[in-house]
Amino acid sequence: MAAFVVGHKNPDTDSVASAIAVADLMTKRGIAAKPAAQGKPTPETDFVLGKFGVKAPEIVTDATDKKIILVDHSDLAQSLENLAKGEILGVVDHHKLGDVTTSSPLEMWVWPAGCSCTVVAGMYDFYGIEIPKAIAGIMLCAILSDTVLYKSPTCTPADKKACEKLAKIAGVKDMMALGMEMFKVKSAVDGTPIRDLVFRDYKDFKMSGTGVGIGQLEVVDLAILDKYKADLQADIAKVKKEKGLHSVFLLLTDIMKEGSEMLIVSDDPAVVEKAFGVKPKGTSVWLPGVMSRKKDVVPKFEKVFGA
Ligand code: MN
Ligand code: MN
Repeated sequence: MAAFVVGHKNPDTDSVASAIAVADLMTKRGIAAKPAAQGKPTPETDFVLGKFGVKAPEIVTDATDKKIILVDHSDLAQSLENLAKGEILGVVDHHKLGDVTTSSPLEMWVWPAGCSCTVVAGMYDFYGIEIPKAIAGIMLCAILSDTVLYKSPTCTPADKKACEKLAKIAGVKDMMALGMEMFKVKSAVDGTPIRDLVFRDYKDFKMSGTGVGIGQLEVVDLAILDKYKADLQADIAKVKKEKGLHSVFLLLTDIMKEGSEMLIVSDDPAVVEKAFGVKPKGTSVWLPGVMSRKKDVVPKFEKVFGA
């Protein structure tokens, strides 16, 4: 039985592209594997797959009796249902180590890079296996997306080196132009249900036992979201209630101004000022320089909730 390679819930371009690439690499190493995703592609991912003629992975949400390779996460809260009833063969990721455990030895490819696809590019190198042109294209887009065109503090020299190499293989002459095109697709929110926007890039966390949800919308101009802010605020309050969380935060990130407005709903709104040293105005706060949930936001909240 082929192993399923799968990224986190509410899959982003990295979760989809790294699943496709790792499945290709594993298959070429003689380990039967196929890509999967825990949901439908976002408009950004659709654009990327279409651009390079790659089809979307099948949707898998339950691990029971399956062999599994995790990409782009190792947190139970972000993973498949019944993960303990499957067998995890490996993890390929670039986040802090999560709480997934296994009963058998596994492959661990976890690097502090800006994107899982940077790790995957390193795996192809390690095994001396060529990256197919179309897969190089989607991996390139994943790195440009995760590193916000190199602007995110998570971006490392390894990410840039991988992009140069992938762009050559994919025949992409101007990668930043392609990246801007991709972010414009990502910024197009008109006609999208509010709940879809909240969950487009949303993750649940357990911070010292406290349930915290953090979503993020990245746009090329924050003004695009002006008319939706009130509805987004009302909807994160609903999400908080439905999921029984302590707090839900939604980052509205302006990738050109390089900062985020955070919408807040919390049992204890003071956690925001404790974490960032800025006093919110009502239920929102502008956080200059905050681009990355992983690097700029999660560690700060973990410190506050842990204390
Ligand atoms: Mn991701
Ligand atoms: Mn990622």
